Amino acid sequence: MRFDTKVVRATVEPDPTTGAIVPPIYQTATYVLPEIGKNRGYDYTRSSNPTRAQLESMLAALEGTKYAVTYASGMSAVDAVMKMFRPGDHIISSDDVYGGVSRLFNRILSHYGMEFTYVDSSNPNNVAEAIRPNTKLIWLETPTNPLLKVTDLEAIAKIAKEHKIICGVDSTFATPALLRPAEFGIDIVMHSTTKYISGHNQIIGGAVLTSDEEIHKQLRFVQKAIGAVPSPFDCWLIIGGLRTLALRMERHSQNAMKVATFLEQHPKVSRVSYPGLPSHPGHQVAKRQMSAFSGMISFELKGGIPAGVALLNNVKLCALAESLGSVETMITHPATMTHAEVPKDERLARGLTDGLCRLSVGIEDVQDIIEDLENALEKI
Ligand SMILES: *Cc1c(COP(=O)(O)O)cnc(C)c1O
Repeated sequence: MRFDTKVVRATVEPDPTTGAIVPPIYQTATYVLPEIGKNRGYDYTRSSNPTRAQLESMLAALEGTKYAVTYASGMSAVDAVMKMFRPGDHIISSDDVYGGVSRLFNRILSHYGMEFTYVDSSNPNNVAEAIRPNTKLIWLETPTNPLLKVTDLEAIAKIAKEHKIICGVDSTFATPALLRPAEFGIDIVMHSTTKYISGHNQIIGGAVLTSDEEIHKQLRFVQKAIGAVPSPFDCWLIIGGLRTLALRMERHSQNAMKVATFLEQHPKVSRVSYPGLPSHPGHQVAKRQMSAFSGMISFELKGGIPAGVALLNNVKLCALAESLGSVETMITHPATMTHAEVPKDERLARGLTDGLCRLSVGIEDVQDIIEDLENALEKI
């Protein structure tokens, strides 16, 4: 089965008792046992649930891994990975990771004795140079949020293997429709299923995928022991969203390419970051490892904070909303929204400049998106 067929058909079997083409939601906490010491595959929903199991086998089939484990959020998925490590373990992370991930690392896990080093992983040498005797994990994001930096997964997987270090990738921006990190030798793939995987802004969820049995066992144990599980109803909604993933990612990517090209030519925009643009420093690597470039763009307005505020207050179609990866176009201004609490010096050092805007390009008619941006840009 080819990928686009798998997305629609893999593991979604009609219900054997009724023939319902969409499998039911097993909204149950527990299961009646046939006798002591036996069960029918399920005993308690924190451990396992048929709707969740279906979502997990679907995700594994798409990502090309043996296993998938799902969680109540992307953050609990990252946390579950980190629970495999111990005080004194050192972790190297991409520097431009999702803000919630660096908050988890710096403000929670570091209190438990885990050490973190942030490097610009778009240059693999930076990762190699940061390795210490106690380095246990390399944690990457590609493309990153919000600067859209691209990391060469094959190069980093090679470095990780040489040093027997586990390598994980937060692949939320790409999804298995555009990039399958396991094919490049990456051990762990993580998704915030809140974003493109479910695709409709209806749920919060996360997933961790691997083909390594030992890692999978640990993740399952953490899922059961800590209990950050997604509800059966949320799993059912994710399954529904997932079935149009290939179609959506194609349209997100096409639309984003057109919007990025429009923005790059606009006189009030000084810089556009989109891995699909030949001007993007990671374009060649992205082209090699991804089949398209997804729907995320960031761009810099010449007028700094006032321009950012004016643009966001004047868009009509683009929703002024945090989050990304849903069917509707959403726009944020990190300096006054997601990163408003970060001290200015630190924010600027991280490349989150005053005029930076982040756009999650939806699947609407691209002409409407461009006209909306054009009208709002005129007013700043
Ligand atoms: C949203 C996001 C997360 C966190 O996921 P939640 O589902 O919001 O908990 C992690 N990484 C990336 C890249 C994200 O975009």
